[in-house]
Amino acid sequence: MNQKIKGLLAAFFSCALLLTGCSAPAANTNSANPEKNQLNVVATTTMLSDLSSIIGGDRVAVEGLMGPGIDPHLYQASAGDVSLMQKADVVVYNGLHLEGKMGEIFESLSGQQGLTVICIEKGLDESKLLAWEDDSSVHDPHIWFDVSLWEDAAKTVAEGLAQADPEGKADYQANLEAYLKELDETDAYICSRAAELPQAQRVLVTAHDAFQYFGKAYGFEVRGLQGISTDSEAGTADVSELANFIVERKIKAVFVESSVPRKTIEALQAAVKAKGFDVAIGGQLYSDSLGDVASGANTYILTVKANIDTIVDALK
Ligand code: ZN
Repeated sequence: MNQKIKGLLAAFFSCALLLTGCSAPAANTNSANPEKNQLNVVATTTMLSDLSSIIGGDRVAVEGLMGPGIDPHLYQASAGDVSLMQKADVVVYNGLHLEGKMGEIFESLSGQQGLTVICIEKGLDESKLLAWEDDSSVHDPHIWFDVSLWEDAAKTVAEGLAQADPEGKADYQANLEAYLKELDETDAYICSRAAELPQAQRVLVTAHDAFQYFGKAYGFEVRGLQGISTDSEAGTADVSELANFIVERKIKAVFVESSVPRKTIEALQAAVKAKGFDVAIGGQLYSDSLGDVASGANTYILTVKANIDTIVDALK
């Protein structure tokens, strides 16, 4: 990476650090090994770390900025991120404002010599994107919950890696094709599990509005207590309105999310109880982060399968 980029990064991240104080370095998925002559790939979310590792295979060493359970909407860059970014050959980020201000810095790095910037947003067909709440000019970033859109993301990563490392093109293509097959199977699994629920029971209530793409792809009505981002708290009016909806529709279960504090959904459960109805907490969904190794849901595929199992089992 050239000096100009380093300077730009250092300035950006030191601003972020001044604002946030010193936070612990983010967890990594992998360790770069220069002896193997691997491409150093830095990915933002856990989903993108997983995807980059799968498509890159042995040719890449992936470092993830965000560890399991981290909320990307609220993520602030740490000191550890600076050194990771400084040795990166490739940066992979979601875009669609998921990473907030960090997206702007990645955007500005695009086109710099010696660095390939892969933005998942750029590989998506705009007609498939959903609006961010009522604003049709901005899009909902949670595209990974529609497996067909994640297939598009996989193609974008394969293309970007081949651009950064043309000698590896055939390997990336082979890894992509194998993974697309697995994603097709995953999509079919989600569809078959969803089909176990009658249409009227396919209502998904969660802590924040991360599941709109999931709802559209698999036929669920989706309600989130907080909006599309977690950066503003739900007000009492929001809680009360959603509680009324749950009582009217006699919804059996609502769901907590791994990257959003549990109290958000517990407040909703209490409000439902105050109206004389009991709604269960149906379990924890992985929304904006994969699980850790101990959770058994530490890959994208395991995560989306765990989610549909949790949802269908609780709403049956
Ligand atoms: Zn989110």
